[in-house]
Amino acid sequence: MNQIDITPDDSTWKILIVACSKSGMLHHCQYIMDQIPLNIQNNIQIQNSLIDMWGKCGLIEKAKNIFDLLVDRDTITYNAMINAFGLNGLGTQAVELYSGMPNNLRNHISHICVLNACSHAGLLHEARTIFNEISLKTQSINNTIADCLNRLFMFDEAQKLINDYEKTNTPSIVIEHQEAKNFRSNQIEELGVKVKVGLSWTEIKGQIVQLKAHDRSHPQSAEIYAKIDRLKSKAIENGFIFDSSWIIRPLNENETNESVLCDHRELLVIALQLIQEPVPKRIQVVKNLRVCGHCHEFTKVIAKIEQCDIVVRDANRIHHFYPNGQCSCQGHF
Ligand SMILES: [Zn+2]
Ligand SMILES: [Zn+2]
Repeated sequence: MNQIDITPDDSTWKILIVACSKSGMLHHCQYIMDQIPLNIQNNIQIQNSLIDMWGKCGLIEKAKNIFDLLVDRDTITYNAMINAFGLNGLGTQAVELYSGMPNNLRNHISHICVLNACSHAGLLHEARTIFNEISLKTQSINNTIADCLNRLFMFDEAQKLINDYEKTNTPSIVIEHQEAKNFRSNQIEELGVKVKVGLSWTEIKGQIVQLKAHDRSHPQSAEIYAKIDRLKSKAIENGFIFDSSWIIRPLNENETNESVLCDHRELLVIALQLIQEPVPKRIQVVKNLRVCGHCHEFTKVIAKIEQCDIVVRDANRIHHFYPNGQCSCQGHF
């Protein structure tokens, strides 16, 4: 557009910001942000999109800065910020912001965002209080609180809530979801079709690098696997146990529990970052599926061994793995 002298307008920038938030790659996000002309940056829709973008990249401070500087906040501004807190495991901050949000600005998305934030941070009491205060409980709001209760193993309460709701409303989509899920998994088994190929990507020297599971096509593949081997031994030295219950298929010849578990894409991507010179202080990985329990535990150990920050965005949320060996989600994922 620059070359043929077309000036990008508000919608061009919005599309670019949305594309960046999907990729989650910081270099691109910062580049686009720096390019936006001041008069367009002041547009509230652009500001809201930027809050969303930084939230989805795990840079909550940047999202908060924009939010704090915005004077004429609207519903979308608040919702974007509450959602950003929730995605990053900052449930308490999400609840605080929701409480401070002017009542007339709250809509059902605000309720869903804050309940999701509670759900991902294990804030059961807060979720119940907020839920009870909502005057118009839509089906999505009911589904969100049911999800929250299920995540915290309160199955009976979740079931009661769904039953109560269905006494006065048409059957909940949650149950139809379950049926859909069974149908889908049966179908997958029958057809042997893999519905979604799992991918993980990261940014190295401004370039996006994408790896698949068991990917040995990368030029640094040998080094990646050597690095994983070293991390594995160190983890075992530190008492880490490779839990075979995460393996959902029979092992092939020449495979061990460790080798299968350590072949997951995000681990390959993290190892690739760790063999860069210099090793980045913060490693950012985006994956299109959910992180498995094994990779989650192993990544905690890697962050501790390497004393670095590792940020993994999966299909559901953002995990911040800290050098102290903890994750921001505190196991709620
Ligand atoms: Zn995994
Ligand atoms: Zn986590």
